[in-house]
Amino acid sequence: MAGAEDMDRLLAEVLAATAPLRGSGRVATYIPALADVDPNRFGIAFADGTGEVHGAGDCDVPFSIQSISKVFTLALALERVGPALWDKVGREPSGSAFNSIVQLEHEQGKPRNPLINPGAIVVTDQLVGDGGADAAIDRLLAFLRVEAGDGSIRVDDAVAASEAATGARNRSLAWFMKSFGILTNDVETVLSAYFRHCALAMSCRQLARAGLFLAFDGRDPCTGREVVAWHRARRINSVMMLCGHYDNSGEFAFRVGLPGKSGVGGGILAVAPGHGTIAVWSPGLNEAGTSAAGAAALEALVERTGWSVFF
Ligand code: GLN
Repeated sequence: MAGAEDMDRLLAEVLAATAPLRGSGRVATYIPALADVDPNRFGIAFADGTGEVHGAGDCDVPFSIQSISKVFTLALALERVGPALWDKVGREPSGSAFNSIVQLEHEQGKPRNPLINPGAIVVTDQLVGDGGADAAIDRLLAFLRVEAGDGSIRVDDAVAASEAATGARNRSLAWFMKSFGILTNDVETVLSAYFRHCALAMSCRQLARAGLFLAFDGRDPCTGREVVAWHRARRINSVMMLCGHYDNSGEFAFRVGLPGKSGVGGGILAVAPGHGTIAVWSPGLNEAGTSAAGAAALEALVERTGWSVFF
C-alpha cells in the first residue's frame, strides 16, 4: 500500500486531473431539496487498512448519500434475516433505471436487486419489521456512527421531507409490490424509513470510513472486529459490482473495475478489496444518475494504483 504522504499526493493529483470535469453533468432536481446543491463541489476521501482517512477537496462537507445508503441497509438486513432476504429480492443487474416499474410486473413484484429503488424498499421493509420505522433508522444511525467513528452523522430532515412530498414514483413501486405480497409492513411506514435513510448526510471522509469493513472481508481492519460475516461482505461487493449504478453498472465496472454504489446526491462509494474504500462527491450526474466527475476521479485513481479487482 502507498504511504500516507503518497496517498495525500495521489488524491491531490486526482483532484487536479478531474478539475475540468467539475460542474459537468446535471444535478438531480426531481427531489427539490437536492436541486440547490452547488454543482462545483468536489470531494474525495480514502480510508486505508489502518483506519486512517486521507482526503482532498470538499471531503469534510456532508452531502445527501441517497442510494449509497442501500449498501448499509442491505448489510443490516442480511445480518437480521439472513439468506431468506433473497426470497424477496433478486441479485441480478436490472439493466433499467433505478425507479423503473416495468420489470416488476413481469417478475411478480420481486425486484431484480437490492440496489435499485424497489429492491431497497423491500430491504427497508425487512428492517422495519420489528420496532417500526424510527427504530430502524436509529439502528442504522448507530451502525454508521460506530463504523465511521463519528457520532455526528444524521439524517437531513429537509431532504427527507422533500422526498416524502414528491415521492409518487416510490409510492407506486411500493404499492405495486404490496399488491404482490412482497412488502409485509404498512407502505407509508416502510417509505418513511426509506426516505430518511436516503436523506442521510455524510461527508466523503465519514462514508469511506463507514464502508471500510467491505474492503476487509467484513472486518474493521483496525480492531479486527467482525462487522458482517466474510461471505456476506463478498456478496455485498458482488452485488455492488453488478448492480451498483443501475443501467450504468457495466460501464462503471469497465472503467473503474471496483465494486461501487452511486447516489443521486452525486456521491459514489467504491471498495478496493485489501486496500481500502474511496468515497467521492460531485453533484453533476450522467444520464443514469451516477456522478460524472466522481466516476472519472475513480477511474483516474485506479489507473494510478492498479486497484481493479480484475488485476
Ligand atoms: N432517494 C432516491 C430515490 O428514491 C434515491 C435514488 C438514487 O440515489 N439513485 O429516488
